[in-house]
Amino acid sequence: IEEKFDAIVIGAGMSGNAAAYTMASRGMKVLQLERGEYPGSKNVQGAIMYADMLEKIIPDFREDAPLERHAVEQRFWMMDDTSHTGMHYRSDDFNEAMPNRYTIIRAQFDKWFSRKVREAGATVLCETTVTELAHDTKGKVIGVRTDRAGDVIFADVVVLAEGVNGLLGTRAGLREMPKPETVALAVKEMHFLPEEVIGERFGLKGNEGCVIEAAGTISRGMTGLAFLYTNRESISLGIGCLVSDFASTTESPYALLDAFKRHPSVRPLIAGSEVKEYTAHLIPEGGYKAIPQLFGDGWVVVGDAAQLNNAVHREGSNLAMTSGRIAGEAIFQINSRGDPMTKENLALYKTMLDNSFVVKDLMKYKDMPVLLHTHSRHFFMTYPQLMSLAAQNFMRVDGTPKIEKEKATTAAFIKARSRWGLVSDAVRLAFAWR
Ligand code: FAD
Repeated sequence: IEEKFDAIVIGAGMSGNAAAYTMASRGMKVLQLERGEYPGSKNVQGAIMYADMLEKIIPDFREDAPLERHAVEQRFWMMDDTSHTGMHYRSDDFNEAMPNRYTIIRAQFDKWFSRKVREAGATVLCETTVTELAHDTKGKVIGVRTDRAGDVIFADVVVLAEGVNGLLGTRAGLREMPKPETVALAVKEMHFLPEEVIGERFGLKGNEGCVIEAAGTISRGMTGLAFLYTNRESISLGIGCLVSDFASTTESPYALLDAFKRHPSVRPLIAGSEVKEYTAHLIPEGGYKAIPQLFGDGWVVVGDAAQLNNAVHREGSNLAMTSGRIAGEAIFQINSRGDPMTKENLALYKTMLDNSFVVKDLMKYKDMPVLLHTHSRHFFMTYPQLMSLAAQNFMRVDGTPKIEKEKATTAAFIKARSRWGLVSDAVRLAFAWR
């Protein structure tokens, strides 16, 4: 490619598509490069997609986007080996004209998003891996090299939307490799069932959907979460734990997923299903403290590559779309003024991102990743077991006076964690949550 572009976007995931669409739809000359055979072929997500963030990019997306079900119910489960203690929230208010959350299948959704990017005027090349960033003599990023024959492809600015591994940014010295304690390794399966069976099992009608997030002994004391989401004719379920935790145990991700599927609370939900897909992927979970330098001379980084992921709320794609959109808007502003894409000017991206929910949310939970990691055994093993014990003690009617039951429950908590341990865990959690 001989011509020079206003911007090159590396990656056609959520963040790359958002950035490319935002710039191309405003008339900028954009080249997007994706190593996969097609957009979405390399991407893994649960997947809940948050409508508000996409509406800000493509307001009428509901007209033709491939959406599965809209969530009307969310269940949070604290699991031990035989039970779950849960909180369910279901509301008919979620059956609104423009629902707030949908399940999606990324392979289909990314293809649709990419079509929108092309229609907006961007040039999209798949099966093209960017191998390195090209710099001028002063270190400014001036373009990229790819695995296709040819020299540097030049652009005023390069948007790194290459996902969690971010090898290009790391190789170019723009940031460090994510640390094992800040990334989770997640595995996911797709279980196919007839639409009406899913409706019956989860009490859903039409396109209503149900979301289950689960923590507890299923992660064997490691920092991790499991999920189960209803699609139209399939159920996505998976589990992920910190890479550093896997490294210090003999547990394997697949064994955890297998145990989750065999759990008495989960097994009936997927009984008789046909498994068609098994995928594994990393999730950035270091939160605010893991965010690297976000911009420099001729470059910005967005989405998972910028570690923008809210593990507490299990949100990633919305932070990816929003950071991509904001980067695109900032670049467009600089471009419209005719200013160069210098580090000073691209600082606008960070200013705008700092003012968005993305950084504000990550800042709110800035201490949570370290707390959960350093106290994982208590939060993901001891407490779920104690909660189950307390619930069962409370519910089992066996002639034991209630006062004795309460004493037994309190004694179990103190035996497991001591009074001081209980108070300090509560205080730590409250501070990390505030
Ligand atoms: P990606 O989607 O990873 O896209 C990066 C793209 O860059 C890929 O297409 C890749 O092929 C391409 N690429 C990489 N290197 C190069 C290169 N050198 N040259 C060219 N192309 C390149 N988030 C939610 O909001 N809701 C959920 O329910 C949810 N569930 C999840 C479940 C799992 C199991 C996982 C793993 C993640 C989940 N997430 C969820 C997180 C969400 O998937 C990510 O936050 C989101 O995909 C990030 O988008 P991205 O565009 O930054 O990166």
